[in-house]
Amino acid sequence: MEINYEELGLRVGLEIHQQLDTASKLFCSCPTKLFEGSEEGVTRIERYLRIAKSETGEIDPAAIYEYMKGRKIIYLVPRGHVCSVELDEEPPHELNREALTVAIGIALGFKSKIVDEVHVMRKIVVDGSNTTGFQRTAIIALGGEVLDDEGVVRIQTICLEEDAARKVGEVDGAVVYNLDRLGIPLIEISTAPDIRSPEQALRVASKIGIMLRLTGKVKRGLGTIRQDLNISIKGGTKIEIKGVQRLELLPKIVEYEVMRQLKLLEIRDELIKRGVRKEDITSNIYDVTEVFRDTKSKLIRDKLRAGCKVYACVLKKFKGLLKVEVQPGRRFGTELADYAREWGGVSGIIHTDELPGYGISDAEVHNLFKFLNVDEGEDVIVITVGTEDRCTRALKAVIDRARDALSGIPKETRVANEDGTTRYMRPQPGAARMYPETDIPPITIDSRIINEALKYVPKDPNTVYEELISKYSLSPEISKQLIRSPYFIYFYDLVRELSDEELTPQYIASLLTIHLRSLKSEGVPTENISIEVIKDVLNTLKRGEISKDGVIQILKEYALDPKKPIEELIKKYSKVDVNEVIKIVSKIIESNREELIKRKDKAFNIVMGLAMKELRYRVDGRIVADVVRNLIRDLGQG
Ligand SMILES: [Zn+2]
Repeated sequence: MEINYEELGLRVGLEIHQQLDTASKLFCSCPTKLFEGSEEGVTRIERYLRIAKSETGEIDPAAIYEYMKGRKIIYLVPRGHVCSVELDEEPPHELNREALTVAIGIALGFKSKIVDEVHVMRKIVVDGSNTTGFQRTAIIALGGEVLDDEGVVRIQTICLEEDAARKVGEVDGAVVYNLDRLGIPLIEISTAPDIRSPEQALRVASKIGIMLRLTGKVKRGLGTIRQDLNISIKGGTKIEIKGVQRLELLPKIVEYEVMRQLKLLEIRDELIKRGVRKEDITSNIYDVTEVFRDTKSKLIRDKLRAGCKVYACVLKKFKGLLKVEVQPGRRFGTELADYAREWGGVSGIIHTDELPGYGISDAEVHNLFKFLNVDEGEDVIVITVGTEDRCTRALKAVIDRARDALSGIPKETRVANEDGTTRYMRPQPGAARMYPETDIPPITIDSRIINEALKYVPKDPNTVYEELISKYSLSPEISKQLIRSPYFIYFYDLVRELSDEELTPQYIASLLTIHLRSLKSEGVPTENISIEVIKDVLNTLKRGEISKDGVIQILKEYALDPKKPIEELIKKYSKVDVNEVIKIVSKIIESNREELIKRKDKAFNIVMGLAMKELRYRVDGRIVADVVRNLIRDLGQG
């Protein structure tokens, strides 16, 4: 079904975070480079989450949520990358002048109005990724615009802020952060919710990304630019989605979130139709271990042996609804499971809409309904296995989420998955999360700093277009396509790192535009192709290990199955040399000799066809043709 986004009242806003490539961090003189050595031997500091109170004394609701999770935090402190400022043992130094100047330059490029005075604020952060319990941020400019074919997208604010610590893992329920990233300057560009279609989200984000790169003062590579989105439709809820690292995924994320909101509204309507009221969904949690005493389910049996119990809650009149797919591969039951995992730390839930299954028998399902005295024809039972404490928290979260289904779509912050679907992360934080940073005096923006900033003002994309034609000899059509391509921001890097006589800028440009587009029109999911993969493949081409035909074929097969290691495909299509071609063609002639002699005038086509079947994408067709022509000349004389 074609979705009419205009009719749905789609509104999307973007928040783009880009690391700046300055010499030092925002509030200390540590470098802005990430630690690359082994984590072994790096100092570790253990802390428990701090709950920061805002000035009014109110605790942020999202902070309470994290507090309830009772997480221990482990900080890695690599020497030379972190000082006592990041550890919150020393007050911040003054705001990095270079970062401020670059940020002003960028803001001017977006026609944003620079503030007279910069005030550093504290923004409460609730996940332990800042040692202080807050992130320092400062508004640099207000207003501005991004021009797009579908209309102007307004910019609301441009901020300069410190990046958070880098999450590197979890150990026994404790989160591990590396402090090397904490304090790297970030520019944050927030647009108004003026974006009206999934494709426009990509174009606008890509244009902002291009302009940022054109300053020459931003970091490159995975993780250095991160996009957050807020998405809503008429009658829906404004949902925040965090941490999108790949631009190409943006349209899918928007599309899938719209799908999710529509489905959740359908579920709400169905619940209302069934006459379900909030009070029907009781908070009771039951120990149902008894039912599974002799279960054949390995999943449950193993946990029971380890001393766990099975707990259950009942969702009255929910039958069938947990099976409803809300995003590709994600059901309403998956949404409930997210809550159970986040709040209870359980590995998941099992519900009767998906049973029998997991080794749980039909009889056990009947017994479960009987045991709890609920209606098998109408209700759903959700179970989880674990300790009482965890299971209680998990099922309480499931019950709360199920109650929210009656109002439609809960206000959530979600996080993007690799495939463009999203999962629950935490409730949306309240409004009162900013208060002044008293350690840093306000900075007046004078004409001197504005003049200094002029050298960082990114070029207008039209100027860039002219340059692509004059400096890189690209055709106007390719230049136009290239600027619009989500891969454009990587073009200069690829040319700088890879181009030579064979691998010309024109070739790189046409690969990023025409070739990828034609794959896309064939239905190949090109959004699976990351710039790292393109770089790998081009490097292999540069080393002469594959042919240009091979490049496209490798990218195509990779996009269709991105779980496959790229090295495998590169090997599959590795270039063959002339001697190998001669060997293969000779063999073909040998095993078809009689037929070839009989159909001598067709011999070339027959051999060529068979040879190309074996050699396709691995060697230039012209070379094969030469070899075939030479070798069939001797036919019939032997
Ligand atoms: Zn430092």
